[in-house]
Amino acid sequence: MDISIVIPLYNEEESLPELYAWIQRVMNANRFTYEVIFVNDGSTDHSWQVIEELGRASEHVKGIKFRRNYGKSPALYCGFEKAQGDVVITMDADLQDSPDEIPELYRMITQDGYDLVSGWKQKRYDPLSKTIPTKLFNATARAVSGIHNLHDFNCGLKAYRREVVKNIEVYGEMHRYIPYLAKNAGFNRIAEKVVHHQARKYGKTKFGLNRFVNGYLDLITLWFLSTFGVKPMHIFGFLGSIMFVLGLVAVVVVGANKLYDMYHGNPYRLITESPYFYLALTTMILGTQLFLAGFIGELIARNSPERNKYQIEKEI
Ligand code: UDP
Ligand code: MG
Repeated sequence: MDISIVIPLYNEEESLPELYAWIQRVMNANRFTYEVIFVNDGSTDHSWQVIEELGRASEHVKGIKFRRNYGKSPALYCGFEKAQGDVVITMDADLQDSPDEIPELYRMITQDGYDLVSGWKQKRYDPLSKTIPTKLFNATARAVSGIHNLHDFNCGLKAYRREVVKNIEVYGEMHRYIPYLAKNAGFNRIAEKVVHHQARKYGKTKFGLNRFVNGYLDLITLWFLSTFGVKPMHIFGFLGSIMFVLGLVAVVVVGANKLYDMYHGNPYRLITESPYFYLALTTMILGTQLFLAGFIGELIARNSPERNKYQIEKEI
């Protein structure tokens, strides 16, 4: 099969028939063999009935129905598990992404040899309150991930070589960073294609402004996991050592100062009267705690199922 189209959706009943008809037009015009996997993320409207109807009319339709709303990442994860096509395309269900882009995305994966091609909504039809934070968000994501050629990490329209989606694990709200996940898994031929974007036709957006706060926190988590995920001691031990040594030096200086003054018959204070004593004490305690966090982290990492998971591309 050439293409699997994975569509996560939450309360998008009005858009689905139109979207599917459009996809079918494009697929037939290009003679692709394909499947469309609708992942109904616990919709409370009639989305599932619509999907069942589409499924009765067409053999290309597959569906997954969650019992409750889990979020876009879990929906993508399950869609990826089920996908069988050589190229896997994800798109939003709200008609903001155009199926007309699919043939070119497919060509970039199969002929240009990219692992992942991300859409770039260069001209967006979204409110300003969304486009400005998005710019900042993408700049940060570029800097942290080291993928400098992507303008739009969170574009719903993306194409993947099948191996990519079978070898990454999207969870929580990590759908915003799939290119980063792919890069961490060793798929670094990542490109971008300018895509048409439309204003939402039906329904309303499912994400509020808190997406940016959560997005940043997730980015920090990802950076941490990819850098120190299996060696937490390298960060905690390092910070802990620095703090402990700083504290120790400060204590020695405070103590030596007092001894010096005593020896020379100068007036002197109790060590506990010096503010530096307390700073030194706190620093040493914090240093020890960081160290302990490192040890505990190592114990956890030792038990992680990920600790010996590698991407082996070929063996002979
Ligand atoms: N979506 C989902 N589960 C959720 C929230 C959203 O499957 O919990 C789907 C939604 O139905 C749509 C896609 O994710 O197909 C993108 O959502 P939306 O259009 O609301 O995001 P925006 O375009 O505002 O970024
Ligand atoms: Mg949308």
